[in-house]
Amino acid sequence: MPNLLIVGPPGAGKGTQAVRIAEALGVPAVSTGDIFRQNIKEQTELGQRVTAILDAGEYVPDELTNELVDDRLAQADAQAGYLLDGYPRTAGQVAFLDGVNERRGERLDAVVRLVADTDEVVRRLSARAAEQGRSDDTEEVIRHRLEVYERETAPLVATFAERGLVIEVDGIGAVDEVTARILDGLAARGVQGTPSVQA
Ligand code: AMP
Repeated sequence: MPNLLIVGPPGAGKGTQAVRIAEALGVPAVSTGDIFRQNIKEQTELGQRVTAILDAGEYVPDELTNELVDDRLAQADAQAGYLLDGYPRTAGQVAFLDGVNERRGERLDAVVRLVADTDEVVRRLSARAAEQGRSDDTEEVIRHRLEVYERETAPLVATFAERGLVIEVDGIGAVDEVTARILDGLAARGVQGTPSVQA
């Protein structure tokens, strides 16, 4: 029943790895960025409220983001654990998630920190812009998103490190290799998938 986070700068490969790790462990991968993008695509009320924010590379206000995560974690598939990708990103979100876990009578089990240097991250994001045409993958917005990450989110890692939760993983390398590193790191802390899922 692992409750996990994956953190790291935009472009470190969080989304790709989150899906693979979640599958191996039998928990849902919950990406706030994906949920926002889906809402924008479907032109929901939430989507309309956040379009300009995502396009500018800014953070969506905590109230909106927290409510969305609260609803998502209340769904049936998240009762056996979760892997959050791209949340929490602010101190307010960390406090909110602590409250959610407290109500569940649970705690975080581990925080995977994917490490990748800035040049590599910019290179990957530019490649993704060409492939997927994400509107927040222009060079100017990429740079801004990295700045926002460094200012708002990187310092939160220290909070999790103080709690002894952080597993640092080198995010550079083949996708399979990085997945194996993460699963090894988690297994070393006693976080493992059920044998039937791993088989
Ligand atoms: P991501 O796909 O995780 O890089 O997120 C893409 C964009 O969605 C971010 O640049 C923010 O505008 C927004 N976003 C995603 N997650 C959060 C969050 N936890 N808090 C605030 N904004 C978020």
